[in-house]
Amino acid sequence: MSILLRTVIALWTAVMLASAPAAAQDRVKVIASFSILADLVKNVGGDRVDLSVLVGRGSDAHVYAPTPADARKVAEARLVVVNGLGFEGWLDRLIKAAGGKATVVVATKGIKARKAAGDHDHDRKDGHKHDHDDDVDPHAWQNVLNVKTYVANIRDALAAADPAGADTYKVNAAAYSARLDALNADVRAATAKIPSARRKIITNHDAFGYFGAAYGIRFVAPQGVATESEPSARDVARIISQMKRQRIPAVFLENISDPRLMQRIAKETGAKIGGTLYSDALTAANGPAPTYIDMMRHNLGTLVGALATS
Ligand code: ZN
Repeated sequence: MSILLRTVIALWTAVMLASAPAAAQDRVKVIASFSILADLVKNVGGDRVDLSVLVGRGSDAHVYAPTPADARKVAEARLVVVNGLGFEGWLDRLIKAAGGKATVVVATKGIKARKAAGDHDHDRKDGHKHDHDDDVDPHAWQNVLNVKTYVANIRDALAAADPAGADTYKVNAAAYSARLDALNADVRAATAKIPSARRKIITNHDAFGYFGAAYGIRFVAPQGVATESEPSARDVARIISQMKRQRIPAVFLENISDPRLMQRIAKETGAKIGGTLYSDALTAANGPAPTYIDMMRHNLGTLVGALATS
C-alpha cells in the first residue's frame, strides 16, 4: 500500500471517529410512551433525535408495566413524550423510579378531551354503570386534526430542548401537518359518502369516540355482553338481536377468536365482517399499520368496506 493511500485511510478513520460519536452525543434523547407517539416524534425530530419507545408496536399501553431498564432510560432522556389524558396510568410510578427529574411533554396539551365512552352508553340495558364520571377518553389521536396539536406540542418541546434544531423541527412539523390535513380531508370525504343510516358499528373497543365524533360514525357498545373475555354463544345471540334492532350494518369485535361465532353473526345479520381496526398501537413495519397515517388509512378502508352499500 502506498504511503499516500495509508495517509488517506488514516485521515478518513480519524474523521469518522471524530464525527460519529460527536453526532450521537448531540442528538436529543427522547422517549415516547407508545408506538403512535414515537412515529410523530420521529416525523418532527428526524435525525436530530435519538428516539426510543416504552410500549412498542403491537403492545397495549393500557396494561403496560414499566421495567427497571425503562426507569434507567427515562433517567437518561432529555424529554419523555406522553399522551396524557390518563392514557399512561403507570407514568407517575415510572418517573418516580427514574429519580423524578424527567421533563415530561404532554402531547395532548390544548386538546379538548371527550368523556370516556362508558359514560355515553345511555342505552345500556344491563344496568351496569361505570364509576368513572370524570374519566376522560385518552384516544384523542383518532381525530386527525387533534394530531396537529400533538405535532405542535412535540415541535415546541424539541425546540426548547435543542434550540439549534428549532428551524428543522419547524419545517418537519409543517410538512407533516400538511400530510395530516390531506389525511383529514380524505377521511372526511370517504366517510361522507357512506349513507348516514349506515354509519353505525358495533364494537367492544371504546377507542373510537374521537373518530366517531369527528367523522360522523357511531361506535356502539354491545349491550349486556362482558367485554373483557371471549363472548359466549349467548352473548353472540344478544349482539345479533341488538344489531337487528338498531340496524347496525357492521361489527368489529376484537376478542372473538372463534371464527364460527363471527360467521354466525354475519349469517344472521347480513353484516360484513372482516378486517381489523387498529386503535392504540402500530403494527410491525411489514404490517398494515406501520405509521400513524398508514393506520388511519387502513382503518378508513376497512370501515368504508364494511359500511358502504355496494
Ligand atoms: Zn385504548
